[in-house]
Amino acid sequence: MRTLRIGMSGTDVMEIQAMLKKLGFYNAAPDGIFGPQTQRAVIEFQRRYGLTPDGIIGVNTYNAMRRYLLGYDTYTIVCGDTLYAIANRYGTAPDLILTANPGIFPNSLRVAQRIIVPYGFDVVDTNIDYTYEIMERDIEGLKARYPFLEVGISGASALGRNLYYIRIGTGANQVFYNGAHHSLEWITVPVLMKFIEEFSRSYAQGQSLGGYDTQDIWNYSSIYIVPMVNPDGIELVLNGLQPNNPNYQELIRWNNGSTDFSTNWQSNNRGVDLNHNYNAGWEQSKEAEAALGITGPGPTRYSGLAPESEPEVQAMVEFTRSHNFRLVLAYHSQGEVIFWNFQNLAPPEALRIGNMLSGVSGYRLEELTGIAAYAGYKDWFIKEYRRPGYTIEVGLGVNPLPISQFDGIYADNLPILLLSSVV
Ligand SMILES: [Zn+2]
Repeated sequence: MRTLRIGMSGTDVMEIQAMLKKLGFYNAAPDGIFGPQTQRAVIEFQRRYGLTPDGIIGVNTYNAMRRYLLGYDTYTIVCGDTLYAIANRYGTAPDLILTANPGIFPNSLRVAQRIIVPYGFDVVDTNIDYTYEIMERDIEGLKARYPFLEVGISGASALGRNLYYIRIGTGANQVFYNGAHHSLEWITVPVLMKFIEEFSRSYAQGQSLGGYDTQDIWNYSSIYIVPMVNPDGIELVLNGLQPNNPNYQELIRWNNGSTDFSTNWQSNNRGVDLNHNYNAGWEQSKEAEAALGITGPGPTRYSGLAPESEPEVQAMVEFTRSHNFRLVLAYHSQGEVIFWNFQNLAPPEALRIGNMLSGVSGYRLEELTGIAAYAGYKDWFIKEYRRPGYTIEVGLGVNPLPISQFDGIYADNLPILLLSSVV
């Protein structure tokens, strides 16, 4: 954590603005620029929590902010505490505390017991640039609030970042959703993270979500989600090339001499396009890339030296092989379209289900041709298992899509995410 002060900018500033906004200290849309309004909000925060009101976020202020970034605090019960009084003090609801602490009972709180107290606001922010670090913190925050979630690691990126998975439900019907094979398409990460949060809340409270009974889904299905397949690429897009990157010089060369990765970089940290690295029509993908003049690592469409050469792809292949997925969704962002089929290997029901997904979202159902038709995750899944697999392309416009599209995209895709878990 670097010290933040007026004049600085970055995704870390943006995350803190979003948190100050949730607490009521900051009113504007988070823009990642530490200006006078952000400084005033920080000073107000510092006054409220007994810190030196200097408007600078150093270690002490950051430590005070951290629990709000995580969305919960830990609290030690003292004599005379009641659940209602604790909830009141934190401005939260007693049932949120009960969900986060399955062992406690409202009428028999034990003195000196440490409990988790979730705040009354949502964990997943959908108005900011969604980095790996933010996702990691949100996963920690969601797991604390909703301990029934299974959180694990499906592998590691080329630079060693975790490829987290979250499992919702305990049923036998296994489905798999993944996001952001392509780094410019990071908006798909908060779509999946928001879904995890809304589903968990709905399940904990025994409510329905989008017309579905989440208790039923929980018992019938296991929804496995890897929200971010390409964290190293997203780091390049959102935080830029860092001086300690082991591929620093190569990345600049692969990026045609530019140090700006924010508008064109779809690949991982080795310059390989992960959605052209699967073992399904990989040779055709190589031919197509040659026709496009691509001869080596670069921002997009380079398939690698061999199929499954990339650690992120190896992790997704192994994760898939170690489960029994009935259906998969691979999330991308371009065109409000659902791609199905691969070389006519999809089963007949894949078209029927594809039409249903199209119907609930308003997205077109299409079959791909050309370079994008080869060596992607859904291609490999269909080739390998002959089961329904889809690429969901959310949103319209130039990647990276602005986060202002989030609400519309989420509304379109919530029905897809729910229906795919039971269809
Ligand atoms: Zn894509």
